[in-house]
Amino acid sequence: VQITVLGKSPAWQDVDGACSGYLVREGDHVLLLDCGNGVFSKLRCTCDYVEVDTVLITHLHSDHFLDLIPYSYALRYAPRQQPVAVDDWPANESPARPRLFAPPGSGDVFRRISALFGAEELIETAFELIEYEPTETYQFGEMTVHFGEVPHYTLTFAVDITTRSGARMTYSADCRPNSALVDLARETDMLLIEATLPRPERTGLRGHLTAREAGEHGARAGARRLVVTHFSDELDPEHVCAEAAAGYGGSVELAVEGAVYAVGEAAASAHRAA
Ligand SMILES: [Zn+2]
Ligand SMILES: [Zn+2]
Repeated sequence: VQITVLGKSPAWQDVDGACSGYLVREGDHVLLLDCGNGVFSKLRCTCDYVEVDTVLITHLHSDHFLDLIPYSYALRYAPRQQPVAVDDWPANESPARPRLFAPPGSGDVFRRISALFGAEELIETAFELIEYEPTETYQFGEMTVHFGEVPHYTLTFAVDITTRSGARMTYSADCRPNSALVDLARETDMLLIEATLPRPERTGLRGHLTAREAGEHGARAGARRLVVTHFSDELDPEHVCAEAAAGYGGSVELAVEGAVYAVGEAAASAHRAA
C-alpha cells in the first residue's frame, strides 16, 4: 500500500501547506483519507480528482473535511462532468461521483454548512454519501478498513487499513492520550499519528497529543514504524522528532507534504515525490 502525504498541517496551514489529507493507493483503488482545507489543490498535483474512488473522513473538524466544498463544486460544475459538450470537453453521461464515507450524523452537518451558501444538497449530490457504521468492516478494493473511536473534541475515528497482501497502516486521526488507538494499532506496520502539541493543553479538556505522547502510543502499540504528523511548521522539527523518538524508544519519521510511504512488500522507506 502506498501513502502520499497531501497535507500534514494542524488546523491552520503551514506555509504553502495543507491540512490533513493522505492519498492511499492499493492496486487500482484510490482512497483519500481526510480532506482538510488546502487538500483539494494538493490532490490535483498528484492525482486526477475524478479518479478517486473513495473519500473517508475521520471527523467533522474543518482541517479534516473543509475541502469537500471545493471538491464538490468541481464534481458538480467542472466542464467534463456535464451531460452536454462544454468547451473542448465531450458530453459525459456518467460523471465521476466518488463514495464519501463520513461519521454518523455527517449528512446533517454537510447540509447545514452548505445551506449557508444556498447549496444545501451540494456535497450529497457531488458524492455518494455513506455514513459509516463504526463497528462495521469495509472493503475498499483490496483494502479492509476498521475503525476505532478515539477521544477528541467531537466524534472521531482512527482508521486501520489492511491489504490483501497483509500490509497494514493505521491512522490516529486527532485524539488525546487513550488506549483505543493503542488497541487498534497493535503490531501495525506503520502508525501515522498526530503530534499537535508542544506541551499538553494548559486548560480544559485535552484533545491532542504531544510529540512525546505520540511516540509513547507507538511504543505501547508495538508499531513497527512511526510517522508523526499534524504538527505546525512553527515548531522546531528537530525537537518534534527528538521528543517523538524519546517516547517511542527508536527512530521516527516526520510527515512531509509530498512524501510517499510504501508499506508492505515494496520498499519500506519514504522518499520524496518528484
Ligand atoms: Zn486536526
Ligand atoms: Zn480534530
